[in-house]
Amino acid sequence: MPAPLVVMKFGGSSVAGAERIKRVARRIVRERARGSELVVVVSAMGDTTDELLALAAAITDEPDARELDVLLATGEHQSATLMSMALQSLGVPAISLTGPQAGITTDGRYGKARIAGIDPRRVRAELAAGKVVIVAGFQGMSVAALDGLEATEPASAVHTAEITTLGRGGSDTTAVALAAQLGADRCQIYTDVKGIYSADPRIVADARQLDVVGYEEMMELAHQGAQVMQVRAVELGWVNDVVIEVLSSFEDAPGTQIREDPLVEQRNKVRGIAHDRNVAKVTLVDVPDQPGVARSVFGPLAEQGINVDMIVQNVGHGGATDLSFTIPRVELAKAKRILEPLIRDLGFRDMTTDSAVAKVSIVGAGIHNAPGYAARMFGTLADAGINIEMISTSEIRITTIIAEDRVEEAVRSLHAAFQLEQPETVEAASALAG
Ligand code: ASP
Ligand code: MG
Repeated sequence: MPAPLVVMKFGGSSVAGAERIKRVARRIVRERARGSELVVVVSAMGDTTDELLALAAAITDEPDARELDVLLATGEHQSATLMSMALQSLGVPAISLTGPQAGITTDGRYGKARIAGIDPRRVRAELAAGKVVIVAGFQGMSVAALDGLEATEPASAVHTAEITTLGRGGSDTTAVALAAQLGADRCQIYTDVKGIYSADPRIVADARQLDVVGYEEMMELAHQGAQVMQVRAVELGWVNDVVIEVLSSFEDAPGTQIREDPLVEQRNKVRGIAHDRNVAKVTLVDVPDQPGVARSVFGPLAEQGINVDMIVQNVGHGGATDLSFTIPRVELAKAKRILEPLIRDLGFRDMTTDSAVAKVSIVGAGIHNAPGYAARMFGTLADAGINIEMISTSEIRITTIIAEDRVEEAVRSLHAAFQLEQPETVEAASALAG
């Protein structure tokens, strides 16, 4: 039987400093002693990426996108090389590879590149030579972009492939993509928490660590767990059917598996409570109720890269209607600048904004097919005297907008109302369904 192949990814806090790198190296040695072939993906040490960004910002307000990506990629080069040295000093053959050396190509969009493909030959050759392969996460080489070259010039004339980074948290995506391409037996994301929880454990004391969470559920919970895993990595795992394990690099304890959940029908339909404070609400008052208005509002926002989340348009009365929507709070000032001139152009009466709101959701596959969940959610908030300002739903989520200063209370009461502190058994689920 061939040796199992395991992809292990260690986040920035797990490799912050020489001592932690040495500790992770010892853990890798233990895993290798079990007979596995190992590909190890690392993030930059600690706050290195933020520090590099701050350095660039201290030089210029508008750093060149290409130079910035080359700069940021060096954070992961540092940790990869140091990890390789740590393994070698423990007597384990190892080699570090940059993203491009590992054969990772991207679509070339600086700062937010997507992986275009992986040529696994170099990684496979190093594994075959008996080495642990350390790959610098968060980066790849753009497939030769020929911008600026004459069309008649042969593609080989000038080598314009560039280092590109995959967006914040992108090492997760590197790990999942490598696991998919190599057909790895396991894909482990080591981090500074023990796994995915039924709610933020800093808010809910009896939040429970989940054994299994579905891909789609994990993507919806991502606001709660965004620091735990990059959403795109989950998406990639879903598309490629990679079982992702999230686990602590600081203790030996079972983590959470992100996978298609075979027991989904039998579990409590609510898997977790997610919340997000990075929200602002915008209301346009007395907007003319006629075709094209929504486009005139949301078109310019989209062009400026502002992500609109929930949208509620009231029933029109007397030729006018109110239009409310939410955006990330950090974008509020920008959105106001874009919308203010429209007040006159479109002829609506007023624009009000509220940045003291937050989003609270119940998330779980199957919520949609189970009657009574929405009613129980709204009833719970009503009992707590919490006013719901907006509501939206999807197949696997019910989301409310409430006042920000009530968010912790809302999360705690919903966690209790849906009995998420209980171990997940089939009996508990059927009791709840009653
Ligand atoms: N170092 C990069 C970041 O901080 C990528 C990563 O950690 O996954 O976003
Ligand atoms: Mg991370």
